[in-house]
This record gives sequence, C-alpha cells and structure tokens, in this order.
Amino acid sequence: MAAHGDVFSAMLQEFEGAAHILNLDPGIWQMLTHPKRQIIVSCPVQMDNGEIKVFTGYRVQYNVTLGPAKGGIRYHPDVTLDEVTALAAWMTWKCAVAQLPFGGGKGGVICDPTKMSMRELEALTRRYTAEIIDAIGPDKDVPAPDVNTNEQIMAWFSDTYSMHVGHTSTSVVTGKPIEMGGSLGRREATGRGVMIVARESAKHLGFDLRGSRVAVQGFGNVGSIAAMLMARQGAKIIAVTDWKGGVYNANGLDVDKLIAYVQKTKTVGGYPDAEPLSQPGVFQTDAEILIPAALEKQITEANVNDIKAKLIIEGANGPTTPGAHKSLHQRGVFVVPDILANAGGVTTSYFEWVQDRHGYFWTEKEVNERLEAKMCEAFDAVLQTAQKYNVDMRAAAYIVAINRVATVTRLRGMYA
Ligand code: NAD
Repeated sequence: MAAHGDVFSAMLQEFEGAAHILNLDPGIWQMLTHPKRQIIVSCPVQMDNGEIKVFTGYRVQYNVTLGPAKGGIRYHPDVTLDEVTALAAWMTWKCAVAQLPFGGGKGGVICDPTKMSMRELEALTRRYTAEIIDAIGPDKDVPAPDVNTNEQIMAWFSDTYSMHVGHTSTSVVTGKPIEMGGSLGRREATGRGVMIVARESAKHLGFDLRGSRVAVQGFGNVGSIAAMLMARQGAKIIAVTDWKGGVYNANGLDVDKLIAYVQKTKTVGGYPDAEPLSQPGVFQTDAEILIPAALEKQITEANVNDIKAKLIIEGANGPTTPGAHKSLHQRGVFVVPDILANAGGVTTSYFEWVQDRHGYFWTEKEVNERLEAKMCEAFDAVLQTAQKYNVDMRAAAYIVAINRVATVTRLRGMYA
C-alpha cells in the first residue's frame, strides 16, 4: 500500500494502542494493518448533455476473516482511496465488536451527486456495480448506503447484480427499500443503537436518562432518531445543530415537532419554540450527554475544553480527534466510541441479510428486540474489557475487535 494518508493513519493510531496492550503477535499485527484487497475502477457514464464522463470508484475489502466484507458506498467529491481504506478498516472492527459474521469493506465514487440527475446517478450506480461485480456477492462482499447514497441506489445496485447473475439476489446489498427485501427497523437502527448505549452508559455512571440534558450535533438520520428515542426515555434534548444553524431550549425541545419542521425547511435554524444557537455552541451547553452525529473531526483540541458533558456517544464515524480524545479521557469524560456507539446500523443490516437469505421476514418488534440484545451484549463486553485492562472505552472496543479477528486468523492458519 502507498504511504498512509490522514484518515488511515488515525485508524492505525487507534489500532496500535490496543494491539500493544494485547501484545499482538507481529505477524498478525502485519496482517490486520494491511487491506486484503483494494479495487480501483473507471466508470464511464453518458451524461444528460451527451458527453461521456469517467468517474473513479473504489471498493476496499479490508479484512474478510470473519465473513463477507460489509460496508457502505459513499458518493462524494472528496472520496479518496485512503479514506475508503480507513472506513473499511473501521467496519472490520465495528462488525467484530458487534459479533457479526462479517469482515469490513467500504466503497466510494468520486462524484458530486448534488449536481447529477437521477438518470445520471442510475447510470453511474449500474456501471460501478458492473465494474466491481466479480468481487461482490452475498458470500463475498455486501455493500450498503453511506454518505449520499440511499435506498434507491441500493435498489439499482441489487437489480444490476441480479441481471448479471441471472436471478434475483436480494442479499447482495442491505439498506434496500422494504418492498424488495429491506428490513423493518433498519432506517432507525443506528439512532436506536445510540439511544441504547447512552442508556446503558448512564446506568453504569449512576444516573438516569430521565431528566438528563442532551446536546446533539447533526440532525440527520442518526441524530434525529437518537434524539427522538432519547426524548421518549425522558431525556431533555436541549440543543441541536445542523449544517445551517442551531436551536436551544433549556426546558427541552419537542423533538417530534422539530423533525416535522426540518422536513419542511431542511434545517433546524429558525425553529420557533427555541433560541438560536451557533454551530460551535452545541459543545458549550450544560448538557450531561453530548452526541456528535454529523461529521468526522468535530471535537478537536481547539474546542474540547468547552465541553461540559460527562458522557459522549459517538453517533458519527471519527468525530473526535486523537488529541481531543486524550484530553477527554484525562478529564474523566466517558466516551463511547463510534465502532460501538453506531454499530446499530450494521447490526440491523446483518438482520436484513439473514432475513433475505432465509426468505422469511421479521416484525419490527422482533428486529428491535434483537438489536437491543446485540447492543447490550457488545456494550457489556467492551465495558468489562475496559475494566479488566484499565483502559478507556475506545481502547477496549479495539481490544475486543482485534482479539476476535486475531483469534479466528490463528484458528484458520496460514494458507500458503
Ligand atoms: P445525514 O446526512 O442524514 O445527517 C448528517 C447531519 O449532519 C445533517 O443534519 C447535517 O445538516 C448535519 N451537519 C453537517 N455539517 C454539520 C456541521 N458542520 N455542524 C452541525 N451539523 C452538521 O447523515 P447520517 O446518516 O445521520 O450520518 C451521520 C454520521 O453518522 C456520519 O458520520 C455517518 O458516517 C455516521 N453513521 C451513520 C450510520 C447510518 O446508519 N446512517 C451508521 C453508522 C454511522
């Protein structure tokens, strides 16, 4: 692999801390820090104006020791191979923490979907699928939506794969529309998982979600559902920010009303039953719980000292820089890391894959009950590991994940 970029280096830093504690065998260390396969494809697409444009796409299968690679596909102008590789590595650790029979993968296409028509997006999705088709499949690599991809894109992906293999294959992707094999509860699963680990963490720290004050950065799929479900548990959501603005209400926002407002206006800014809040303001409130659920690198050494929360649940992937994390740990803030906190999404993707393969579908209640059990089990395993090794929850989550992948690597032995 070429020299590491920023994102992969950050992943390696987290990995190495845990690998040292585990005294990981150097050979296994090497194996777990190299991606198994990185695919680069060129996807020519005829645009609406008749011109042909070639888009670069990636699919990385970081590690498939525990099962097929699992991970989303991102459409974004800033996608790089370094970022996709790091995200595929994080998926490896996330699936291992959640005890799913999956390895880690991730895909990305360099494009700006906001400037493309539906027809162009469909053509790009089908061509990208066709270009990576030999590497994917229900037993090989199972993609899902990520930034700027959605159920419709998964429907085109599944159709293209099905046309190539000559039969309808639903289990080649997850995050599909319910009508074509998607799972009930998938859309809410990441936010639900965030709520479950917040509740378990509060219990561990000796306080109750009921009456706790919560600040949420990002009010998309993860942030809005987490806020809604935490409000149902009696928490007070006092601050919310998004890409355009923010709102604050010391008595608690009515989250259902706020969601309805955002559906119309596309931002929380200007919501009437609250005071305006600046974007950095979300980190400065008196909330006991902070949920970063927007982007990477939001909690940094520049703003970490503003944070008053005693509990941080990382809904987003990579929201805390390593330096900021160190400072939070020193101050005794309990941080539930992304690879545990937002694992509810991939766990329910696993349920979707299981249902598709059985051709038998569960009720939403069954999905949610199984998610509850899986998240609590993962939380307990990480907490016990943190106590056993006297480390923070991030190092503990890595220890659990690396241990599981390393154990199976040893059991499988070396294929020469
Ligand atoms: P989304 O696009 O639905 O929502 C993102 C939210 O962040 C939006 O409300 C947006 O306005 C807000 N935002 C953007 N820039 C901001 C800024 N500077 N300040 C405050 N808010 C800002 O995305 P999502 O699916 O909710 O994902 C959010 C994060 O969670 C990402 O890091 C994603 O990788 C991670 N994640 C998502 C899932 C899932 O199932 N959706 C699963 C695991 C991890």
